[in-house]
Amino acid sequence: MIYKNYPMVSRVVFGRGSFNQLDEILAPNRKGRNAPFIFYVDDVFKGNHWLTSRIMLSYKDKIIYVPTKEEPKTSQIDQMVEDIILEFSELPSGIIGIGGGIVMDIAKAVSLMLTNKGESKDYQGWDLIKNPGVYHVGIPTISGTGAEVSRTTILTGPERKLGINSDYTPFDQVILDPELTKDVPKDQWFYTGMDCFVHCVESLNGTFLNSFSKTYGEKAFELCQEIFLSDHLSTKEAQDKLMMASWHGGMSIAYSQVGVAHALSYGLGYLLGVKHGIGNCIVFDHLEDYYPEGVAMFKKMKEKHGIELPQRICADLDEHQMNTMIDVALSLEPLWENAVGKNWKTKITRDTLLELYKKM
Ligand code: NAD
Ligand code: ZN
Repeated sequence: MIYKNYPMVSRVVFGRGSFNQLDEILAPNRKGRNAPFIFYVDDVFKGNHWLTSRIMLSYKDKIIYVPTKEEPKTSQIDQMVEDIILEFSELPSGIIGIGGGIVMDIAKAVSLMLTNKGESKDYQGWDLIKNPGVYHVGIPTISGTGAEVSRTTILTGPERKLGINSDYTPFDQVILDPELTKDVPKDQWFYTGMDCFVHCVESLNGTFLNSFSKTYGEKAFELCQEIFLSDHLSTKEAQDKLMMASWHGGMSIAYSQVGVAHALSYGLGYLLGVKHGIGNCIVFDHLEDYYPEGVAMFKKMKEKHGIELPQRICADLDEHQMNTMIDVALSLEPLWENAVGKNWKTKITRDTLLELYKKM
């Protein structure tokens, strides 16, 4: 047995208002006047003085607003990297991602691709990155994905939706300031929060489970129950707790794996562009055969918060399209192995997946 030697985020700050420390945290990492800090910021914050006035720009530092209607593509990352190389004479001092999973993943991927040759699609997979990336910082403004702590950056490439998983992917620095999540719309709060809940269920019910994952997973699961089902939390407490649930959920899957919901959700994402959080919800709603208790609890949470999920999004798909989704889902072998066991191929067939997709 070889145990994974797992890299972690090197530094983390937690606290309401900790975002104010950004400048002093970055300053020692500046490499020179011509090596800027590049801030990727979710474009929902464009014109939001409360947030952006706290980003201090010096020398050639730059804020780049990123639209988040669609999840990141490998071609988009390659373009962003090229833009930086063309504009600046030196490598940036740092890449800072301020936003949800999309912006954090973009920051990670750009940081890696600035120091690794070729196209980002060539690095989708496990441990293909050769060189450490540029110093990179993650600052979540919505909680749930665990992207702030994970060893991956999920990209859609020409052939697949798959992460760049590597020891160099995790952030060098994370700033966890729950106050930044105060204006997240309710539906999005639920979808991204449920990403965390699903991480816990898939990790805790997987065959890869071990005490490391279980410890983090149980804590995050407990926090999710409190946040989404109890009535006694203040808004601030709920924000603080969801931010820590996301972190713990991410830590839990780091040392285990996700499962059926994520595999199927990647298929929806690849073919239909359904985003990660809502995609997981659409899939998870139909997984009572795999995760009976988790799904029952999910339905309670959905009802409590009056969330209506889109229905029949696969109703009009043809055979070819269904097959594309099934191919994407089945290619994620570690997820199935975790969910169903080593001999998963004897239990999970294309028909199993077709029946599930038809319900969605
Ligand atoms: P997101 O980044 O898609 O953002 C969702 C929406 O919330 C956007 O419209 C955004 O503008 C808005 N938003 C974010 N913060 C806000 C705020 N403070 N106020 C108002 N609106 C705000 O959402 P997400 O669910 O965090 O991320 C999904 C992405 O993360 C997907 O691309 C997925 O593949 C990726 N992901 C990555 C990992 C990983 O480990 N790297 C894990 C899970 C998901
Ligand atoms: Zn997820």
